[in-house]
Amino acid sequence: MSNRYKMFDVIVIGAGPSGLNTARRLAENGLKVLVLEKKSEIGEHVICTGIVGKDIFKRFSLSKNSILKEIRKVKVISPFMNYLNYEHPDSFAYVVDRKKFDGYLGEKAHSKGVKIELNSKVKDIIINKNSVEVITKKNGKYKEKYLSQLVIIATGVNYKLQKKLGLGFPNNFLKGIQAELNIKDGEYTHVFIGRDVAPGAFAWVVPIGKETVRVGLMTEGNPKECFRRLIEKFFPDKIRSLKKERIQFKPIAQGLISKTYGNRVLTVGEAAAQVKTTTGGGIYYGLLCSEFASQVILKRFNEGDFSERALSEYEKLWKKALKKEILIGYYARKLCGKLNDSQIENLFKIIQSDGILPLVKDKGDFDWHSDLLLAFLKKLSFRLIKIIK
Ligand SMILES: Cc1cc2nc3c(=O)[nH]c(=O)nc-3n(C[C@H](O)[C@H](O)[C@H](O)COP(=O)(O)OP(=O)(O)OC[C@H]3O[C@@H](n4cnc5c(N)ncnc54)[C@H](O)[C@@H]3O)c2cc1C
Repeated sequence: MSNRYKMFDVIVIGAGPSGLNTARRLAENGLKVLVLEKKSEIGEHVICTGIVGKDIFKRFSLSKNSILKEIRKVKVISPFMNYLNYEHPDSFAYVVDRKKFDGYLGEKAHSKGVKIELNSKVKDIIINKNSVEVITKKNGKYKEKYLSQLVIIATGVNYKLQKKLGLGFPNNFLKGIQAELNIKDGEYTHVFIGRDVAPGAFAWVVPIGKETVRVGLMTEGNPKECFRRLIEKFFPDKIRSLKKERIQFKPIAQGLISKTYGNRVLTVGEAAAQVKTTTGGGIYYGLLCSEFASQVILKRFNEGDFSERALSEYEKLWKKALKKEILIGYYARKLCGKLNDSQIENLFKIIQSDGILPLVKDKGDFDWHSDLLLAFLKKLSFRLIKIIK
């Protein structure tokens, strides 16, 4: 173990979008920041469909270079193979290449002075009275120690460090699975609902290039079996050629957690379950919360106060923005997850026939779903009760 401590104002653990954006914001305001990332490259083997709302680029000053495809047309397919087509007047979302997307954030952070150490897996954090010690394994071998005033945990769905420090972590997860297939794409992003393909959530086929699509699903059920059924049902000619190693799995955090702060520590992004409970999307909320985290940290650096009490403002800020979204989305999805295929089909028919699509155009927002869900509920309440009965 190297004896020489390396001193920073803030150490960020995890070079995903949430960690990198926090690091970038802190460094551009004069702090000395280190990012520690266990992988050998930023954005390496990220398991993600990469769908983001169109506003994300302007909102967080991001380059559009990572965009692979626009999303304007969506086809929702019911359990009994009925279709619902939704066409937006213009692109409302994009599919990005996560390696480029995260890579850009890494370059931005670096250009503001952030030091990024790759191949550095954080094994332990020790919170002392006047500093934080962060201990890594470098290239899986020898240990390094770093010292800072404050540490940010932005490790995605790895919760070991939070557990060790007695911080909050999610108890609920959906299981995500995805593969890229060579299929001639169309203009449509497809969404599949029904207990056969994705009990508790939904499946998707998202075109990303001329002949490539991302096929995936998230579910409360068995992801492998659901994925096999999805491919058998919709792409039977691909079942033989689908190599196991091309199929990737990852859990998706669900629900509202506390606490995301402690003495000299904050948790950000999927590490704090800041994920849309409707779609499982975590990029936007992670970036948003990294802005709240950096605002609070910069204030605390002015005051020199990194106590739990001083940092609690962070959780107040992000919950003010996201609590309603996370809870309403969670319960709406849970409710839909209880419906059987005939009930889903009935709901689908009502949506097809009953002026619901204009509601989507009026109240729909790619990143904020609670208003639309409440409007749905208001419009459909009696019929929903009938369906559930
Ligand atoms: C199948 C699937 C599809 C998805 N599709 C979408 C989508 O279309 N749109 C969307 O918005 N979201 C999507 N998501 C969710 C999205 O990928 C995550 O919410 C998002 O990546 C979270 O960003 P983050 O920065 O918080 O964490 P991450 O991107 O997970 O980054 C965490 C980083 O921390 C590193 N790390 C972990 N532990 C340590 C350690 N001990 N030491 C050092 N480094 C460590 C990891 O290597 C990683 O680089 C999807 C998820 C799945 C599973």
